Amino acid sequence: MLKILLTIAVIAAVYFFLIKKPQVAKKRREREEAEKRKPGLDEEIMVECEKCGTYISSKEALIVSGKYYCSKECAEVK
Ligand SMILES: [Zn+2]
Repeated sequence: MLKILLTIAVIAAVYFFLIKKPQVAKKRREREEAEKRKPGLDEEIMVECEKCGTYISSKEALIVSGKYYCSKECAEVK
């Protein structure tokens, strides 16, 4: 009886590795591709506001037609 359980456990382990591993690799590849499509989005860099010259992090900055702005006022967004 123990041998049967052991065999099942081994099969389950092999099955798990065969099924799970490619999925993890696929997810990782998808993430890498997504990062490639949006270069520098996760990277926090300091950018200068086009209007007032204030330095803000790229995450906080507003990007209007390819230029960085510190606030909606500077970007003239209504
Ligand atoms: Zn500004």
